[in-house]
Amino acid sequence: MPARGRLAPTPTGLLHVGHARTFARAAARGAGRGLVLRIEDLDSPRCREEWVLSCVRDLHWLGLDWSEGPDRGGPHGPYRQSKRTSLYLDIWRQLAQAGAIYPSPHSRRDVEEAALAPQQSLPPEAESIFPPSLRPPAGRSSASEPGSVAWRFRVPDGRTLEFRDGEAGLVRRTAGEDFGDFVVWRRDQLAAYELAVVADDHAMEIEEVVRGEDLLTSTARQLLLYEALGWHPPAFCHLPLVRDPAGIRLAKRTAGLSIAALRERGFSPRDVLEAPLESLWG
Ligand code: GLU
Repeated sequence: MPARGRLAPTPTGLLHVGHARTFARAAARGAGRGLVLRIEDLDSPRCREEWVLSCVRDLHWLGLDWSEGPDRGGPHGPYRQSKRTSLYLDIWRQLAQAGAIYPSPHSRRDVEEAALAPQQSLPPEAESIFPPSLRPPAGRSSASEPGSVAWRFRVPDGRTLEFRDGEAGLVRRTAGEDFGDFVVWRRDQLAAYELAVVADDHAMEIEEVVRGEDLLTSTARQLLLYEALGWHPPAFCHLPLVRDPAGIRLAKRTAGLSIAALRERGFSPRDVLEAPLESLWG
């Protein structure tokens, strides 16, 4: 069954073959139901216009076509997250009034110190679980603006979120064990990823979210947001991450494996989308 989908690149570098294959899957599923191109440019110091342009060029070259987006318009625009702050503030307000979120002035360092036993250190890239000891008592907030403090979602400790993923099968994540109270609003006065994505996927009437499996735990967090907002969540499909020959996941800084580099080396769009990965590595 086709499902209205979205391509949601963050313009912080060149797209690579993993993006291409994820986007192709979303485009195939969206055929006939609509496909939105949404530029996720909230992290403004790292986002650059040249990466938006290279992304659009790569998508055209791959033959992936969207029906709504920054260059096409459509009923659900604007399609840049940096222009959607008023929507995100509305959602922040709903969550604050419901008592689902609270202001959290703690630095990353406070969190790590409170979460870890002395002498323990976190593996690189691991995120420590926000310790319930730093949580204020439950209650609704009377704040009318987020102010310059981060806000976190209060997760139901011990509750297991379960969803059937289009690729990964049955997925379970337990609040308080796999993830803790997460940031929905940043202290630099921007919506955080989880809030912005849920607000947009709902507003843009997305029926299936196709993305990389690194976001599986985020999906559990996002399901809690859908529930708190009284919204029906979309279906989810998380694809395995593409790794380089050394087993390291591709990143935007791996320029040699970008779509642009593969194009220059003479590969066709079909190769980038379908050829065995080993044949693409130089
Ligand atoms: N903007 C995110 C990225 O480029 C994807 C987020 C999502 O698909 O929910 O990694």
